[in-house]
Amino acid sequence: MVPTDSECIFCKIVAGDIPCARVFESDTCLAFLDIAPVNAGHALVLPKGHYPTLMDIPVELGGDLFQVLSQVGKAIMEVTGADGLNLMQNNYEAAGQEVHHAHYHLIPRFADDGLRLWPQTGYDDPDEMGRLAAKIANLME
Ligand code: AMP
Repeated sequence: MVPTDSECIFCKIVAGDIPCARVFESDTCLAFLDIAPVNAGHALVLPKGHYPTLMDIPVELGGDLFQVLSQVGKAIMEVTGADGLNLMQNNYEAAGQEVHHAHYHLIPRFADDGLRLWPQTGYDDPDEMGRLAAKIANLME
């Protein structure tokens, strides 16, 4: 049973109740163009089931999603003539997630598009990086 949320705009698109500029569909995944693109050809790839964040997506869907991301990414680059491609994915509002149905952004990039990714920083305490890595690694066991 695939989970759905009657209030979710992406579930409505999956159900065909709201139109989209569809570029690919399979039993498990859907890809369509973002209505407010960073650059023309910006697409969204999502599992059809309603999983709020990346961490909620069943791992069994990973292979399907990766295949769709790769194929749609190649097609976007060919059609737009892009020089590069960003794969972005936001989880929770603090990270910029607006639609709470997990999805991936595929954004064609051009050498002269003037966009910059997020600013990077460093660790003030030289031991902090190692401590954080150890704590995260501990939860992976
Ligand atoms: P996020 O901020 O990662 O949740 O991204 C949500 C994205 O969905 C935004 O980039 C919106 O422009 C896009 N979006 C919202 N509604 C629609 C729609 N009806 N069709 C296509 N894209 C949409």
